[in-house]
Amino acid sequence: MFTKNIYQKSPIPIQNGLLSCRALIRKILREGKDQFILLNDIQKNEFDASVMRSFVDTQLTHTLVQATKHVPFYKRTMVSTTYNLADFPIISKVEIREHADNFLSDNHRGVIVSGATSGTTGTPLVIRQDMTSVIREQAFVARHLNWAGFKAGDKRAWIRGDMIVPPDQKEGPFWRYSWFEKIIMLSSFHMSPKNLKKYIDAMVNYGVDIIQAYPSSIVTLAKYLEVNDQYYPGNLKSIVTSSESLSSEDRQLLEKRFKCKVFDWYGLFERVAAIGNCEHGRYHIISDYSHVELIDVGNGRHEIVGTNFNNDLQPLIRYRTGDYVYLSDEKQCPCGRVFPIIDRIEGRIGDYLIGEDGQRVHILNHIPKGVEGLLATQFLQSVWNHIEVEAVVDPLIFDDKQQQILINNTKARLGKSMEISVKIVEKIQKTKNGKTRQAICTIEESL
Ligand SMILES: [Zn+2]
Repeated sequence: MFTKNIYQKSPIPIQNGLLSCRALIRKILREGKDQFILLNDIQKNEFDASVMRSFVDTQLTHTLVQATKHVPFYKRTMVSTTYNLADFPIISKVEIREHADNFLSDNHRGVIVSGATSGTTGTPLVIRQDMTSVIREQAFVARHLNWAGFKAGDKRAWIRGDMIVPPDQKEGPFWRYSWFEKIIMLSSFHMSPKNLKKYIDAMVNYGVDIIQAYPSSIVTLAKYLEVNDQYYPGNLKSIVTSSESLSSEDRQLLEKRFKCKVFDWYGLFERVAAIGNCEHGRYHIISDYSHVELIDVGNGRHEIVGTNFNNDLQPLIRYRTGDYVYLSDEKQCPCGRVFPIIDRIEGRIGDYLIGEDGQRVHILNHIPKGVEGLLATQFLQSVWNHIEVEAVVDPLIFDDKQQQILINNTKARLGKSMEISVKIVEKIQKTKNGKTRQAICTIEESL
């Protein structure tokens, strides 16, 4: 809707009205009785291992039976009817992309909702869901929002890449309101340095209790506060982040500058795994959302292979995500919930640069450390031995000396012989979904 002419050409009050009505319709569709019942059910799982086990067994068996009966790929592959997960083959994105129809249930009626993975690591993959699937997803999201302290009536800020403000609008306001949900939606696409104070003021004036944001968007605001030695002047319950990886450095920065806890959520459009922070900062595998297997790939890393419980239309069983976690030694969280704990989620593979020896360098979070006046960065590499750093800066603080520190930090990670150039930009380019990639490397490797 937001990219349509009628929305973009409307005056702002009409845009607020259109946006609010659209949100209301979505709310009615997603948050009916079914979501309430499921939310109530899954809340019973949180602190009781035996209730959880029985819920999970039921869900898993349902998925395996439905798939074997109705999905062509599994009808062909699974001759045994013991419904033992280990008998099912591990599948990957490639198989689903090449044989999409083979993974669709033949037992379907009603609306099909198609969506694509964001494709930051390659070609997007189209995933299809039915309305039940959309509603079930919302129940899990709602439970996590409760963990973050959300209560009915709370006001929220939403900075998650929606194109609510037309891209060619150069003057504020850079936000719109969803009245019925009590949400101020702020644009991720207009966050140039001169606008950031207005973003903070808008959230404070609205009286926001919880911020839901892409990490890159909210970190841009935290860096602005840090550069100006300020703290968020309102009282927040929490910040809920998802859809991009959140480094521990950025989490610390957010918690310090916004004076509240960050509840990060890892999910993916394939819906085969979800991992969420509790109020004690631990990452819990949401084990009643899907079945997660962690495959040891060495050096402490484990690949997430997941089976979704909530999509009968396109059930994915033992699906390789290409995402990795590190295990935790902790068996029990102070929060008392029975979900397994992991130590951390590795940044998505795909955001990497190639160093002087041809090595892929994935961990880029440390590069901006110690550089003052830096609001955001993105690393671009299209040729060997040269990196262009696009930087959004506060020009009063970011001088030649700071630029040199940035260059030195980049060389420290990628190699002394690398050529590094810094380009000051108004804002960092985003993907079509409004996400920000840490690095974009377009070199073809002959691996
Ligand atoms: Zn916990």
